[in-house]
Amino acid sequence: MHAFRRMMGQGEPSISLNLLQEQKRKEVAEKVASGVYQFEEVGCLNCGSDNSELIAERDRYGLQYSVKLCKDCGLAYTSPRMTGEAYGQFYDDEYRPLYVGSERAGDAFFQEQKKQGQRIYQYLRSKGVDLSQSLNVLEVGCGAGGILATFKEQGHCVVGIDLGSEYVQYGSQTHGLDLRVAYLKDLSIDFVPDLIIYSHVMEHILDPLAEMAEIQRRCGENTLVYMEVPGLKNIHKAYQMDVMKYYQNAHSVHFTLGSLSVMMSKCGFALSAGDEYVHAIYKLGNEVSSAKNEYDTTRQYLISTENKRWQYPFTTVAIKQFLKRLLKPVLG
Ligand SMILES: [Zn+2]
Repeated sequence: MHAFRRMMGQGEPSISLNLLQEQKRKEVAEKVASGVYQFEEVGCLNCGSDNSELIAERDRYGLQYSVKLCKDCGLAYTSPRMTGEAYGQFYDDEYRPLYVGSERAGDAFFQEQKKQGQRIYQYLRSKGVDLSQSLNVLEVGCGAGGILATFKEQGHCVVGIDLGSEYVQYGSQTHGLDLRVAYLKDLSIDFVPDLIIYSHVMEHILDPLAEMAEIQRRCGENTLVYMEVPGLKNIHKAYQMDVMKYYQNAHSVHFTLGSLSVMMSKCGFALSAGDEYVHAIYKLGNEVSSAKNEYDTTRQYLISTENKRWQYPFTTVAIKQFLKRLLKPVLG
């Protein structure tokens, strides 16, 4: 039997959607079916190989989505995938409403980002990063800038870039943050960042090695790069043991700590701290990551998580969530 049979073919969404999400999902599906959104075949985004295994054919919204696991290095990546042009339109028209479930940049989204900023701050501190001095912080893919707002409140100097002009405008005008609509390669700043943040951004980038090389050019000797991506080996903790809640059509790569570190290492970075969530801190360094092929371990992980999926309702995480839902009307 095919190891990934459940992930093959067309199907219904694997998560519950509100009316707006349902409508946006239909719009995307129609644009895909009518050829408005074009697709392109790509090789492995790390090693270029075409020697791969197909592990999914749709995403959590039930949208057409082809995920491959490279047999030569173990990176999971999307191919065929929407072209850069199609993604450009998708980010403008459907991405936020489909993913967030609301149409406009607003306070609720900003507050969520601020909480995320607090989590990042705590993580960095727990890994011994000295946050007592004022740091120059650059965030790429900052959205409305909520993460940076947390850092600014703690006395740091912050600059953020994003391609979503509405969010950038909201964060600049409503919260007085220095946010700009720009790609990293086009950004002009007069300082070397002490800290560069990529929170749930690298998995969206179509050419991650080129982006990492650009980060390398922006780094000084002591610059820290904080990178957070959804971990493909964290399905058992963050996605109810269901990989079909993890796949999202906007993601072009599906990292593990190992595959992310191998690619960062190619661009001159050494891992300082990290886990399979994935949270990771990198800095420039020659220490070559042990570039082992993760194909077998990732494949085994996915198969074993799938086989154990029925156990999820009995896990501590699930029971806690169930009780929280049950008690919510009582506790308010
Ligand atoms: Zn590869």
